[in-house]
Amino acid sequence: MALAPVAARIAGRLLPLAAGVPKRERYALAGATALFPLIVGVAALHALFGIGGAEFDTPVRDWLPSIVYVLVAAMVSLRAVRVREARGPWIVLAVGLTLYAAGNLLWAFWLEHVPNPPIPSICDALWLSFYPLAYVGMAWLALSRTHRASAGVWLDGVIAGLGITAVGAVVVFRPVLDAATGGTLAVATNLAYPIGDLLLAALVLGFLALRGWRLDRAWGLLGGGFLVLCAADSLYLLQVAAGSPTSNGFANLFYMLAVGLLAVAAWQPQTTVEKPRLESWSMLLVPGGFMLVAMALLVSSYFHRLPPLAFTLDMLTLLAGFVRTAVTFRDVRALARTRREALTDDLTDLANRRLFRRRLDEAITAARATDGKVALIIFDLDRFKELNDTLGHHAGDELLREIGPRLKSMLRATDTLARLGGDEFALILSDPTDESAALRVSDRVLGEIGRPFAVHELSLHVGVSIGIAMFPDHGDEGEELMRRADVAMYNSKSLRTGPEVYSLERDKQSRDHLALVSALAEAIRAGEIDVEFQPKADAATRTVVGVEALARWRSLVHGTIPPDVFVPSAERAGLARALTRHVLGRALAQCRAWRDAGHDLTMAVNLTISDLHDPALPEEIASALTDAGVPPEAVVLEITESAVLSDPERIGIMLARIGEMGVGLSLDDFGTGYSSLTHLKTLPVGEVKIDRSFVGQMATNPADAAIVGSTIQLAHSLGMQVVAEGVEDDETWCRLAEFGCEMVQGYALAPARPAAELEGLLPALEGTLETRLPV
Ligand code: C2E
Ligand code: CA
Ligand code: CA
Repeated sequence: MALAPVAARIAGRLLPLAAGVPKRERYALAGATALFPLIVGVAALHALFGIGGAEFDTPVRDWLPSIVYVLVAAMVSLRAVRVREARGPWIVLAVGLTLYAAGNLLWAFWLEHVPNPPIPSICDALWLSFYPLAYVGMAWLALSRTHRASAGVWLDGVIAGLGITAVGAVVVFRPVLDAATGGTLAVATNLAYPIGDLLLAALVLGFLALRGWRLDRAWGLLGGGFLVLCAADSLYLLQVAAGSPTSNGFANLFYMLAVGLLAVAAWQPQTTVEKPRLESWSMLLVPGGFMLVAMALLVSSYFHRLPPLAFTLDMLTLLAGFVRTAVTFRDVRALARTRREALTDDLTDLANRRLFRRRLDEAITAARATDGKVALIIFDLDRFKELNDTLGHHAGDELLREIGPRLKSMLRATDTLARLGGDEFALILSDPTDESAALRVSDRVLGEIGRPFAVHELSLHVGVSIGIAMFPDHGDEGEELMRRADVAMYNSKSLRTGPEVYSLERDKQSRDHLALVSALAEAIRAGEIDVEFQPKADAATRTVVGVEALARWRSLVHGTIPPDVFVPSAERAGLARALTRHVLGRALAQCRAWRDAGHDLTMAVNLTISDLHDPALPEEIASALTDAGVPPEAVVLEITESAVLSDPERIGIMLARIGEMGVGLSLDDFGTGYSSLTHLKTLPVGEVKIDRSFVGQMATNPADAAIVGSTIQLAHSLGMQVVAEGVEDDETWCRLAEFGCEMVQGYALAPARPAAELEGLLPALEGTLETRLPV
């Protein structure tokens, strides 16, 4: 009594799809499933040990298989009716099995007992019709649940199919053919079975290959069932060929087992196979195995002649195998290439940003698991853009390509070096690491990149700014670490301090800096930048001959900010052009006013690199002059050596155009750069301003005095006038006058003053200075 629910539970496990059918049918299924082992057990005992004796032969041979076939046909039909999933293929298979069962019933209870049954008979027709239906059903089932398979996977199917057919042809065909008797039709009928079986086996293996050899229960049972069926047929045919009784207990056991597996397979849910992955080399195991077998057959054919069919199939298997190898090779290469292209940087072959992000996340995950650290180092090259602009991007590319090889040697296998884009690179040091290790590596990066690069037969020096952020100290997530390493790098760049580790303090400062820049933009726009004027005097006569306009920013929020802070800020923030326009406007208006009042002063205005890179500058100056009504000769534009060197050719042309207008040009801060005056003699520069760092020390430092003296001499020999800036005392002034320096500027005369203040001083200055003339 308690047996029914237990059987039902077992059936539920064994036949998962049965859960969806009505209870009564489920019990029936359970009963049918329970009958299998019983029947097969009895048949096995009889076949193996002759239990039951000879009088049992007929029932075992006729009754037991018939019951099994009918049960199987019923179970599969029920499945086709009751379960919607994959109904089509299972209807086809159910029809096939029903015809098969019918053929068997007719044989067992009628034809077998007829003397000299015809070949082919109605039973042959029923049995053989099973094959095409089985092919169709299986193909339908396989293809409905396999995603577009690649050529390689299809070839695997072909290899497996051909291979098994070749083996089958050797093992089965020969004896069957040898034993064949009767007319052509009879022989053809008898041959139809092994051929049908071979095809079946070939298809089973082919479809399993198509699934990438991933067997779920459904496919394991189905494939197993069909293969056992083929084995049973082969066994039967071999026994017949060997002259044993027409039917035999062992073959029957196999038949029952085969259809039993099919019945269970029908009630298994089928899993969908996603596209087989190329990387799983295990996939190649089965086709590889068949290749080996085919090879062995070929070798054996040397000793025993193979039937022509078997030989042909064997050769075809090998051929398919070679094609398969070629396809695999092509696929693997293509895969490797796309993968490489997607993850590496084209120019340098280093990891690209995408791979870098992935590696960073992996490193963080690993470090998190071990309580370890990850160092992220970001660096970019200083003045790379200028270099690229001056020497051309080929030179720039060549330089970038050299970075990887230079740094490779200092990296461990687990470290990642990537190019993030432009001249920005990044390095991940995985656990074990710490801040001091990161700094050590950074110093070596600095050293490696600091060595000159040989590009286009030039020896180039590039600097590098390096920022470091540590996991978990500065962030526990990739994105955040990147941002912070970036902040550290920008600090390193602006402070020129070498490798910088991220610091919250500094970050705040640079955010303050951003606030400052936006206030500056607003101040320039609103005209809140004042301009003061510092006088320049003739060194010998001590009369004021000109002034230099200097910008002043007194911010209500930020206090008074010195120009050597806000001018570079403006330059970096792209505000320099507006600043120059503002100062130039104010300066020229003041110049006009002084000229109207009888002070014939020259007006010097400072230019930035951005000004000199703007092709519109000459026109702008010309129209500013006209607007203010100031003659060009009254204006001197001060430029620095580094500005000129940022693009000597283009800026040379620009300066020539400005010079042609009659505007004076002055080389500011001279002596702080690296070039010698002779280098700059082609420029239309009429004046050199010796930097205050030399002038200030002249009185105490004989070396500085010597430098100033020789610079003055050289400038004169090139036809230039000399202005000494930063003259703070009379002694210096006198020495300069002795050296023949034309003009002086400095606190000894006056600091920069608002125009109104200076105005009051002008005549007085002239007067007092007259009396202080050294005689
Ligand atoms: P600079 O062009 O070399 O200007 C001369 C600087 O030396 C001024 O500093 C001036 O106040 C200072 N100075 C003058 N006499 C002496 C002296 O006897 N001893 C010492 N130690 N210093 C003296 P300031 O006004 O702070 O300007 C600093 C720099 O800011 C300028 O150097 C210039 O490069 C830049 N700058 C100022 N105003 C402007 C501007 O309107 N446009 C541009 N592009 N740059 C400006
Ligand atoms: Ca200046
Ligand atoms: Ca200067």
